[in-house]
Amino acid sequence: MLRVTLACAFVLAGAAYGQGVVTGELRYVDREFDFLDGFNGTETERPVPRALVHVLDASDESTLASGYTELDGGFAIPVVGSGPKDVLVRAFTISAPFGGNPVYVQDLSLNIYSTTSPVLSMPSLDQPFDAGVLVAPKVLGPGYQGGPFGILDQGVRAALYVMAQGEPGLPMRVDLFWPEPGGSFASGNAAHIQDDDGFDDIVVLHELGHVMQHLYSDSDSPGGSHSFSQSDQDPRLSMGEGWASFFAGAVRQHFGEPNPGFYMDCKGNGVTGPFSVQLKMRFEDGQPYANSTGGEADEGAVFCALWDLVDRADTNDGFAGDDDLVDGSFEIAPGLDLDAAQWAAFTGGEVLGTFSLHVVDLWDGYFVDAGAVRYDEMSSALDAWKIRVRPDGAEPNDSTSSAVPIALGDAWSETRTLYHATSGGPAPGNGDVDQWSFHLDADAVFEVETRYPGGNPDAETYADTLLSVFNPSGALLATGGDGGVGRNAKLSDLAAPISGTYRVAVRAESGSRPTGSYELRARQTGVLGPPQISGVTPSSVQTLQTTAQPTVIVSGTNLNGFTGVAIGGVPAAATLQPDGDLAVTLPLVDQVGALDLSVTSPLGTGSFPIDVHPPPAPLLNIQDGLSFWFSFTPLSFKLAAEPNDLAFLLFSLSGDPTPIPGIVDLGIGGGIGGIVEVKTVPLSGGGLHAFSLGIGTAPIGVDFHFQLAVLSAATGTLPLVTSNVVKGKKLN
Ligand SMILES: [Zn+2]
Repeated sequence: MLRVTLACAFVLAGAAYGQGVVTGELRYVDREFDFLDGFNGTETERPVPRALVHVLDASDESTLASGYTELDGGFAIPVVGSGPKDVLVRAFTISAPFGGNPVYVQDLSLNIYSTTSPVLSMPSLDQPFDAGVLVAPKVLGPGYQGGPFGILDQGVRAALYVMAQGEPGLPMRVDLFWPEPGGSFASGNAAHIQDDDGFDDIVVLHELGHVMQHLYSDSDSPGGSHSFSQSDQDPRLSMGEGWASFFAGAVRQHFGEPNPGFYMDCKGNGVTGPFSVQLKMRFEDGQPYANSTGGEADEGAVFCALWDLVDRADTNDGFAGDDDLVDGSFEIAPGLDLDAAQWAAFTGGEVLGTFSLHVVDLWDGYFVDAGAVRYDEMSSALDAWKIRVRPDGAEPNDSTSSAVPIALGDAWSETRTLYHATSGGPAPGNGDVDQWSFHLDADAVFEVETRYPGGNPDAETYADTLLSVFNPSGALLATGGDGGVGRNAKLSDLAAPISGTYRVAVRAESGSRPTGSYELRARQTGVLGPPQISGVTPSSVQTLQTTAQPTVIVSGTNLNGFTGVAIGGVPAAATLQPDGDLAVTLPLVDQVGALDLSVTSPLGTGSFPIDVHPPPAPLLNIQDGLSFWFSFTPLSFKLAAEPNDLAFLLFSLSGDPTPIPGIVDLGIGGGIGGIVEVKTVPLSGGGLHAFSLGIGTAPIGVDFHFQLAVLSAATGTLPLVTSNVVKGKKLN
């Protein structure tokens, strides 16, 4: 009836100006789906909104007039002229411009799709003419089918949704490509839709979500493969993917689709029923992945939580009421509805300004940029998905002086959060440091560790913790971010040589995981006694290597309180490893053979034998193998051969060999005249010698060649035995 009335109006206009109008309706064949059954076998005709329609002269296909469909698919295109005319009506997968920029649906060869009516005979161009209903059929490919006009429908809806949030239009054209053999993905202003996804409206909207994020907001997602129930994703990826899926639901809710709140990807080969479903997840309750969904590093938790911030009690999702406190009955940000509040946060400075955007930045944006005021209701909605954006009950404990005392023991703390706003408002709360203190008696051995809440082996409410333990004087005793389950930290075998108040600071280890929740415990695991060594690895070690001083790993108990380490009586540098072992750098020993490796603490000394042997041939180590040298750093030379050998350190600018039969066979010099003797060195009882040499006056940028020629102390006979050649260059 309405269309008849419209046509009558044009009759009057046409009579006055000699102008007719072609009316009609554009639809596309759509495959219906629902959460339970996937493609359920129903095919309906849906209107194509805001699509380009041409009226063509049927004789030569020249364009007589053009226009766009309305939201209901109806069109009314004025034409000029008079007399009878055979015409065609042709619709294209090009939308009306939104703020100057349209949406295109094309194949990968950039062909626009179109659908054309049969030849229609207009009795007169200056009379109204009803072209009837033009239905774009399904497009069938090998093993897949799709609806390009349905894909255009999703693109138009996405554009209209962002404009409903106050955007003036699309800042550039949005391109949708179908069929894409390589899977569905988005890049910049383009979304590629897999051949198999030609009727997967939600997949199309998800990819459009990526495009809208690119056009209006920011994404730091590194991309890569991902799926539901992964709780330890890169949180930047979780934000990018979770938001894109959320966007699909928000658009579908905006347009009144029944049950808009889920993600679904189905087989596109025409099969129907539950087996057509490839992947699905409901936003309201997280099914079928509810038990394995949670935290900032889980795209499912991201879209479920964001959904709770825009769905309402009247959302037609098959659930009575709403399952969270944000139910549409009040504004969370004054003057903005739920969608507009989300959009204001999503496009605000907090989100745009961060370098590693994750969902907590969007949360912060709700308060910083959208002016949200309903902190309790909103944070409880996120809390339901284990995204904990409230300070724990021990805050403020960010500073040394505000450290909160905890009891030592096997029991874990309640769940703590690395989220505490210090700016006055409730957000942003990144950068939290939690400080805890505990008392230890002298000579206690203790450990400090974090775990995921509830001891879950799965990351869920991930926190990537870094622990720093301080002694009673405030000096750092140990720090580390590893050793616990998953991304958790554990510092073991720590020694408390004096009694007093020790302190542990918990913070985020990674800038891309700045928040999260954890449980903490600190406990005494023993009493410090004299060091006892149970083994050294390797048990036999060469005095020197060409690229480094050899390192020996010492295992045992009570090594953590060490004050000194020696090998063969020569002091050695050592560092305590996270597992309680000592890493000892072999010093330049003054004897070889079976030596004593000793570890000393105030409570005694433990020792263990280690075999130290000379290298099989003379060995020259300069700068531990680094071959680029600098004038401000004297060169470090280390020489090794058999005990008491006599070593000649030789230098040349030439790398050509110098054979002197019976005397020496050098790899440098290019002749005896090219060789300079730098130093003659009697080696020690350990067969070693070390010295350093300033090279400030040496030429820059030329190759230096060094080699040892060694007279054996054991035989005292020629020829001299040569070492490796070391080549280097002074860079400044
Ligand atoms: Zn995606």
